[in-house]
Amino acid sequence: MKPNRIYLSPPDIGSAEIEFVLEAFASNWIAPVGPNLDSFEKQFATIVGSKYAVALSSGTAALHLALRLAGVGPGDEVLCSSLTFIASASPITYVGATPVFIDSEEISWNMDSAIACEIIERKAKAGKAPKALILVHLYGQSADIAPIKACCDKYGVKLIEDAAEALGATYHCRAPGSFGIAGIHSFNGNKIITTSGGGMMVTDDEAFAQQARYLATQARDSAPHYQHSVIGYNYRLSNISASIGLGQLEGLAQKVVARRGHYQAYKEAFKNISGIIMQPEAPWSESTHWLTCLTLDPQRTKITAEQLRLALEAENIEARPIWKPLHLQPVFKGAEYHGRGVSDRLFGTGLCLPSGSAMTPGDRDRVIKVIKTQFA
Ligand SMILES: *Cc1c(COP(=O)(O)O)cnc(C)c1O
Repeated sequence: MKPNRIYLSPPDIGSAEIEFVLEAFASNWIAPVGPNLDSFEKQFATIVGSKYAVALSSGTAALHLALRLAGVGPGDEVLCSSLTFIASASPITYVGATPVFIDSEEISWNMDSAIACEIIERKAKAGKAPKALILVHLYGQSADIAPIKACCDKYGVKLIEDAAEALGATYHCRAPGSFGIAGIHSFNGNKIITTSGGGMMVTDDEAFAQQARYLATQARDSAPHYQHSVIGYNYRLSNISASIGLGQLEGLAQKVVARRGHYQAYKEAFKNISGIIMQPEAPWSESTHWLTCLTLDPQRTKITAEQLRLALEAENIEARPIWKPLHLQPVFKGAEYHGRGVSDRLFGTGLCLPSGSAMTPGDRDRVIKVIKTQFA
């Protein structure tokens, strides 16, 4: 008989969630509007330190709205981290703009600020600065926001943060996602908190938040009949999903502690294996380690990430390669890219380990044992 499956990052649901859902049923707020939706937004804004939060049907929808509200359209260029999930960049194409991909820096695996600033400056001097920059905070760790924000501010580039993987993290004691004109979060099933599917846009700009709500609900003008002056979307989160989110928020701090604990335990277990290099922790960030990731040093070991992944799979344990950089994706073939090969190397040598906040120490030991056996 196979041992139980250990997933990469499964949902971690407590008892509060069902209480909030029952409350929504009891009050008949089974709609994309309702008191739990309002509370979820208010509490979320408080937790991340932004003035406004708009709950949406996905993180991808949040990013789409942010780009549209930033005025990004056909003919515009948008800088974007290359090492990330496709959803960081697909909204650039939804608005008809062109992505320009930027490599990672070694210390955080996030966008290389030196390359980003050089490209912004070069394009500005050539007559057209990029319209926006999507800064991704990968695997629970904040990018180095300050130097990138300084370049964006200097050349009028709108900074949008993709904090879908970084809820609960800090950048110099503040939440990543709260620095740009807007930040986005995701509540997909694999994220640190889930609503079964959903997202949030946060901003300090009241008009931006109002416009986001307006566009997310089919852009209805204020009239008793249905009147529309622009085309909107059906992007609002439901009151039921928000109810799950309210319960999840209560457990956020504990989930961060659990995921950080996994990283520390893996790090300790592999400290004498010279071929294993853990994802570094950048000095400016308190990472949540949404996923614990490592790379294998080909100078020191013949074992590959794929070999480890297959050994884990044979024991019914799910592990995944690091994100395939977007400049290597077939769909973005020919797209402009600036880098020094960092994200290519991380993709080629990296692996993400099971990191769910409900994973038991016993299950974690199973993962560790399989990996140690490969190196024995
Ligand atoms: C999950 C994720 C998204 C998209 O969020 P959805 O809610 O799944 O649409 C965007 N960016 C990154 C980096 C993600 O990991």
